[in-house]
Amino acid sequence: MENLGLTLLKNKKTRSLLIHSETIKGYPTILSFIRKTEEVTDEIIDTLLSESDKRVVYDLFPTIVESCHNEWRGNPDPEDVLDGDDRVECTLCGRDNKLIFYIHNIMNGKRINVGSTCINLFTHDTLFEGKSKAEVIKKARRNQRLRMINEKIPGIKRIMDNWEDDLKKYDVLIPSYIEKEYLEIGLHASRIFNDYLDKKADKSVFDEISVFLEKRNELIFQMEVYCKEHINNRFVVTRKIVQQLERDSDGETIKELKKTGYISSKTAPKIREEKFIKDLEIDFKSMLETLSADLQDLDYYNGVLKITPFSDKPLLILTPIVKFLTYFGWVIFKDEKYVGFTMSNLLRISKVTDIASIEYIISSIDFLLGKSNKVRLYLDDYDNKYDRYEFSEMDIHDLRNDKYVTVNLHGFIDDFKLALVNSDEWVAGELIKYVDNLSRDKYSRYTLEELKEKHYRRIYRETERMFK
Ligand SMILES: [Zn+2]
Repeated sequence: MENLGLTLLKNKKTRSLLIHSETIKGYPTILSFIRKTEEVTDEIIDTLLSESDKRVVYDLFPTIVESCHNEWRGNPDPEDVLDGDDRVECTLCGRDNKLIFYIHNIMNGKRINVGSTCINLFTHDTLFEGKSKAEVIKKARRNQRLRMINEKIPGIKRIMDNWEDDLKKYDVLIPSYIEKEYLEIGLHASRIFNDYLDKKADKSVFDEISVFLEKRNELIFQMEVYCKEHINNRFVVTRKIVQQLERDSDGETIKELKKTGYISSKTAPKIREEKFIKDLEIDFKSMLETLSADLQDLDYYNGVLKITPFSDKPLLILTPIVKFLTYFGWVIFKDEKYVGFTMSNLLRISKVTDIASIEYIISSIDFLLGKSNKVRLYLDDYDNKYDRYEFSEMDIHDLRNDKYVTVNLHGFIDDFKLALVNSDEWVAGELIKYVDNLSRDKYSRYTLEELKEKHYRRIYRETERMFK
């Protein structure tokens, strides 16, 4: 991108405005250059401007233009509308206009005419709106002093303006133990710099600022070295990760990451950046291998791992990546042990959603309950008309009182998927507890006849609805 000062100087509209402004008079050689140059190109700037003027343009011109612009106030209503083919040229852009607007300069009282496009530059400008004449003068004075200091320390304003943002140009996050000193120096330098501009300090501060800038260069060198040394390490915090967290307004996590510059099991669940997540596939795979489970797919967009926990069984579980990292991330990041990485814990944090897997869990439970004479699943399909998956229902038969109860299928599966890693006694015992804990108010107990009637009625209603 071209330097903003150069772009502004090449803009005819800007130059026309400057010619009529006051602030620019503080830069007589630049003003005379603008006066006598019709067209401004890189070549002309290069041959006609002195080195010190070039520096002013490069470093300070945007501020000068802003000050000049602030001197002007526009009346949003046209003062004249010309008849017929009469036209007057806009003083700024030279376009012919039928509507004549005026802007006036609060510093020198000049009044110039502009057209309907250019007037907008002076009426819709909320940024500088309402600045008093005193403020405009103060700003102009600051600019004068800015010019003095820039002579001695070229580019000082750009350096001061970008002090903190410069930390963002590295491909990795700079940890606080390096960043801290850099920011502290920035604060000191900025205070002295502004004291000088506000005339609270004289040019004796130039030396002090130069010392800060030397220290700055040293620290920048350190940061470059840090970046080079760490960029290829796994789990170093990349700029892209920081940008994602910034978009999420997650300053807390950025702060935490800055402590070491590296991702830990504590911060990992907060990071959604694509490369980071996709690169973890290898870790997820090798961890799952220790349980003899397979990773079928890392679904980045839905944030889940699709896992077949038992290679010889038709079961697919969905594990949210955030949960996986929260509970088992310590294995990957070699942190202190948190939750044991076992099959039952993996099942606990996972969901089962596809029909085949649900049917597999139901038949496994049914098999394990084989000998139980207390509570059983009731798996009648009502002449093949009842689809418990479609209704998301599950019937349970309490043999102790020969009553039936219908529960939510997905909730039931969520509670009983652990049957896959438990014994038949566990399943029988848990199911009794489960049924006994179902509240009498919410879960009616049916006789077999009532249960069938309830289901058939519903099947009938659904069929009717479908063929309506
Ligand atoms: Zn114009």
